[in-house]
Amino acid sequence: MHAEVVAIGDELVSGQRLDTNSRWLSAELGVLGIPVAFHVTAADTLEAGLDAFRIAASRADIIVATGGLGPTADDLTRDVLAALAGVPLEQSPEAVVVIESRFARRGMPMPESNLRQALFPAGSREIANPYGTAPGIDLDLKVAGRPVRIFALPGVPSEMKLMWETTVAPTLARLLPEQATIIQRRIKCFGAGESAIEAMLPDLIRRGRDPLVGITAHEATITLRIAARGRDEADCHAKIAATEAVIRAGLGRLVFGVEDDELEDATLAALAASGETLAVGEAGTGGRVTSLAAQANHRRIAVGTSGVFRGGLVAADDGATDAMALAEQARTTFGGSVGLGIGSAFPTADGRTALRFGVATSTGTRIAEHVLGGGPDLAASRAAKAALDLVRTFALAARAPT
Ligand code: AMP
Ligand code: MG
Repeated sequence: MHAEVVAIGDELVSGQRLDTNSRWLSAELGVLGIPVAFHVTAADTLEAGLDAFRIAASRADIIVATGGLGPTADDLTRDVLAALAGVPLEQSPEAVVVIESRFARRGMPMPESNLRQALFPAGSREIANPYGTAPGIDLDLKVAGRPVRIFALPGVPSEMKLMWETTVAPTLARLLPEQATIIQRRIKCFGAGESAIEAMLPDLIRRGRDPLVGITAHEATITLRIAARGRDEADCHAKIAATEAVIRAGLGRLVFGVEDDELEDATLAALAASGETLAVGEAGTGGRVTSLAAQANHRRIAVGTSGVFRGGLVAADDGATDAMALAEQARTTFGGSVGLGIGSAFPTADGRTALRFGVATSTGTRIAEHVLGGGPDLAASRAAKAALDLVRTFALAARAPT
């Protein structure tokens, strides 16, 4: 079974807005084990829409579309689908009631144009939209004797995602042979690049493997997503546990957490486990480390753990601020047992820019150098995470030297 994602909108093809829905839908289809061969983005015209759907229907079994279901004259997905199927649009009395009552509840008159959203290609099914007025369309086609199933969803990301989760994904899971339970788990890593991590896990990130392991990178945090399909939840959990063990054995301390854990959460947790507290002084990262640590500290306090992060001071990046001096100054100012200092940016011998990190504790100090990389937008964020990771690995090593 192959899927194709069709995104519709002038704002997408004109470059005004990035098509993030296709990316999201593809990832979700991947979790279900349905490969996506094409993304197509089409303008808000009948011709472009018809071409896009015709071509998709000629080569895919499943088409997931997003956009063009609104009430205005440029929302043509319903017209395109009716033309594609060669059927008329029919008004759904149930959809009229839902749309009218939504306006009535808000005490607003319903514009006549909204009734367009109650039109469906004859023979199609409605996909309920709990967040908005436009229901989606679920349509069966026969293309040269081959069945093609089309799910058309709105473009508004929150509506699209909710409708996918409540209706489309369960429907697709039922269409798949037998194994219908799907569970995923995210393993979060920091300290090596995407390709280096892939190389450390030979054979794990392979198409067709069960469970499937995907890898994504965001601001130097690497996420490994394990998606297991099985008979039931216990079967999925057993498969996930076996794969997670392989990942942890292969990556060791590069793994800092799971699911929604952030690196700064792991850093504070590691400090807390050894009874330490943290104070930060930074120049080259302009307050980012302090901000991340403060947010993680809030999350810990919210679950009843006392503050590990004591405070941070930010110095101007004047080219002359020393990392270790800042670490000591922060420790003295806030009374943290561990001081982390991030010095000023300086040029390296090979023409790049680097920062020095200093960690000061009651028993010793440690200095590390970090070369800025990833482009101007990313460099500071990566540097902040690298500094926090230095403290994390420092705290872990202090507890269990390896
Ligand atoms: P529509 O359902 O076509 O009226 O889209 C409503 C709004 O959702 C648009 O104005 C965009 O802001 C947003 N949107 C539509 N399609 C996409 C997409 N493919 N990716 C991200 N946002 C989108
Ligand atoms: Mg649109």
